[in-house]
Amino acid sequence: MQEIDYLIVGSGIAGLCIAECLHSEHASILIINQPLSGEASIVSSGLINPITGKRFVKSWNYHEIEKTFLAFYSNLEDKLQIKFLSELQLIETLHSAEEENQWLSRTADPEYMDYMGVLTAEKIPGFRKEELTVYGRINKAYRVDVELLLSTWMDYFRKQECFREELFDYNEIQIKSNSIHYKAMRINKSIIFCEGYRLVHNPYFNWLPLFSLKGECLQFYCDHLLQDHIFKSTYAIVPKGKHRFWCGSNFELDQMELNCTNIEMENQLNFVKNLVEAPIEIINHAFGIRPAIKDRRPVLGKHPENSRLIVFGGLGTKGFSIAPYCAIALKDHLVHSKPLPKSTDIGRFLKKHYQNHS
Ligand SMILES: Cc1cc2nc3c(=O)[nH]c(=O)nc-3n(C[C@H](O)[C@H](O)[C@H](O)COP(=O)(O)OP(=O)(O)OC[C@H]3O[C@@H](n4cnc5c(N)ncnc54)[C@H](O)[C@@H]3O)c2cc1C
Repeated sequence: MQEIDYLIVGSGIAGLCIAECLHSEHASILIINQPLSGEASIVSSGLINPITGKRFVKSWNYHEIEKTFLAFYSNLEDKLQIKFLSELQLIETLHSAEEENQWLSRTADPEYMDYMGVLTAEKIPGFRKEELTVYGRINKAYRVDVELLLSTWMDYFRKQECFREELFDYNEIQIKSNSIHYKAMRINKSIIFCEGYRLVHNPYFNWLPLFSLKGECLQFYCDHLLQDHIFKSTYAIVPKGKHRFWCGSNFELDQMELNCTNIEMENQLNFVKNLVEAPIEIINHAFGIRPAIKDRRPVLGKHPENSRLIVFGGLGTKGFSIAPYCAIALKDHLVHSKPLPKSTDIGRFLKKHYQNHS
């Protein structure tokens, strides 16, 4: 019988980050993943934007989160011998005098000075500009090369014989007093569910206040567009290297139809054609479903009755920045019995959601 410490279900950014943390603690792990329609990490642009929303607010716990992902990704680049994280400037289009005022008041705040630059009306090379358009520059934005990172990381775990392509079947779980079994495998510690939006189908965790945000994106080639900044207006245009660009995305609440739509494809295509001066060639149009939680924070921790069943979910729109922080906190909780940060702890939902559900 195969014996391992942790079984990890899902190899999106959540599953791979927790696998990395546990593997570096010398725990024996196995990742089970089946590429399923709607998976989010692989279609994402990997953009990390410190300042978001119409009011230009710094992302949740950003100081801590930035410090953590910079160290985590830098160690990972050394280990995997690839360069997947780039710091880029983000150019944000401001749409009204109110947004301009909001921007100006933020730039006067010492908390924001490092991140938000002066307003400019200068044309951005390669992009059409209306006469009155004003841009703000966001410094210290990053882009993760998602395809390179995920494929190299999964290959690494495959070579370590820690990765299997397979659909996880909840009916095959047997909970015993000192261990948990899955099919013919004995798991000494826990099963960690990192299933993205598919957590809604998980009989152990579907009581959580989950919701999903579907998004579509368009990839295109353009020989004449520069690769050195991210452009943001109604949609973002993110450079992907080798003259490839990613455009997206919309947010469709609880829209579970597993396909792309003609209407969104047209919206994005019109956006790109109206904005980009040079001809473009479409590579593909794709969709994914962001896994979110009603209070917009991730969810980590043990099942209230089966403490060997663990959840790592709800990464929402910011998976690539917050996954390393969450994975380290979850590893510290599981291996070193440290408490989870309160705002991520599954315990916050027990009273209202678990007790009402059972
Ligand atoms: C269009 C779009 C653009 C985005 N852009 C950004 C961005 O620029 N920056 C950013 O930080 N975030 C972005 N996001 C959000 C980000 O992608 C998510 O927060 C993150 O990818 C969620 O990761 P995850 O590992 O939880 O889920 P997923 O990436 O969905 O991974 C879950 C994996 O588990 C597998 N799985 C599920 N159930 C089972 C099972 N029973 N058996 C086996 N395998 C299973 C799935 O197939 C999948 O591979 C974007 C999302 C979308 C949809």
